[in-house]
Amino acid sequence: MNIAVIGAGITGVTTTYFLTKRGYKVDLIESRRYPAMATSYANGGQLSASNSEAWNSWSNAIYGIKSLFYSNSSVIINPKPSVNKIMWLTSFIAAIKNKNKITQQICRMAIESIKLYEQIANKEKINFDLYNKGILHFYFNKKQTEHALEVNKLYDLAGLRRTRLTHDELYSIEGSLTGRQFDSIFYTESDKSGDIHKFCNSLVKQLISENKVKLINKEVTDLKKELKIYDKLILCAGVGSKKLARTIGDFLNIYPIKGYSITVNNPGENAPRVSLLDDSKKIVCSRLGEKRLRVAGLAELNGYNLDIIQSRIRPLIAWCNTMFPDIDTKDIKPWAGLRPMTPNMLPIFRKSKEDRVWYNTGHGHLGWTLSAFTAKHLVDSLITE
Ligand SMILES: Cc1cc2nc3c(=O)[nH]c(=O)nc-3n(C[C@H](O)[C@H](O)[C@H](O)COP(=O)(O)OP(=O)(O)OC[C@H]3O[C@@H](n4cnc5c(N)ncnc54)[C@H](O)[C@@H]3O)c2cc1C
Repeated sequence: MNIAVIGAGITGVTTTYFLTKRGYKVDLIESRRYPAMATSYANGGQLSASNSEAWNSWSNAIYGIKSLFYSNSSVIINPKPSVNKIMWLTSFIAAIKNKNKITQQICRMAIESIKLYEQIANKEKINFDLYNKGILHFYFNKKQTEHALEVNKLYDLAGLRRTRLTHDELYSIEGSLTGRQFDSIFYTESDKSGDIHKFCNSLVKQLISENKVKLINKEVTDLKKELKIYDKLILCAGVGSKKLARTIGDFLNIYPIKGYSITVNNPGENAPRVSLLDDSKKIVCSRLGEKRLRVAGLAELNGYNLDIIQSRIRPLIAWCNTMFPDIDTKDIKPWAGLRPMTPNMLPIFRKSKEDRVWYNTGHGHLGWTLSAFTAKHLVDSLITE
């Protein structure tokens, strides 16, 4: 079978990987010069089942509306109306009633996915700065703690254990936080962190060297044209998927939710090693090897614009300086990326209307975490159909 995967971000690379495991030779088509140069370039680095909580809630919707009046909010909605934005927001609100069910669904997928990454790392021996040190969540007041305890009940039902820590336990797990006080701290030992860009590039390089994959540098404009060349296509084009799906008459409700990161180079000995999530600010932080610390967050609904706006970078630097006053923040690399987000937070991994086209896209804020699961699942269904 002549098969092509479109898009060499994390969804495309994991899909390609599982296809090669089934014995297929794959053409991996990518419009950029190298793999993982779009959203899979400099994300928060977390492989985190403990961040499975769906964003669909009235409090988030109200927070989003309030952000129209505050420029330093962690959610920013450009008030200029667009059909895509309105359709997405309407469906986002409609999914609020299913939030608990969605959260459990995402959590189950994430648990399985993280196990798959562990298997890939062990089998393929690729270096992507994988840290098996778990993820810490911390909360600053009673209200946040009560909310976290409610979310824990959903995680319990999905099979994820998030343990409450004392301050002493926290300080022994993550020494850089010694002395800091929180209202509550939770720890998910099974979560991990790693460099998504390194993972994609190392794996593709390995698959090319084993003659299992050909990386083709081209921009796909019409899926019908590609169907003249290939027997099957798998669309993994991130925020580009919606436009391409339209060429075969399909509608994918994916909106680009912009986020930002900073990579602190040479942060020094006092930088944290365990990956962290500050739920109050929705900021995540991961150590990538000895020499880099990644801090990421913010959600901006502003179309496909990828400009790096300094006023969005400043809160990330400020967070870093406040949380870790003893680290070195002289050398910082800012970045912006677009999360390919569905309104109900669930990725799309299924066959399209057209029999020979499949989708693996729409992974939103958890694409690094969920891709191994959706890729394996999609390849299994494609093979057995
Ligand atoms: C600030 C930020 C922090 C994040 N932190 C985390 C985190 O800590 N943990 C986590 O799990 N997730 C995180 N995410 C989400 C995660 O990074 C994304 O979900 C994931 O990278 C999306 O991968 P993708 O393969 O779908 O898209 P992409 O990585 O964008 O890949 C799509 C590829 O398709 C190519 N393409 C598009 N159109 C075409 C075309 N027409 N022809 C050919 N090629 C095409 C693009 O060039 C691109 O390389 C974060 C995202 C952001 C923005």
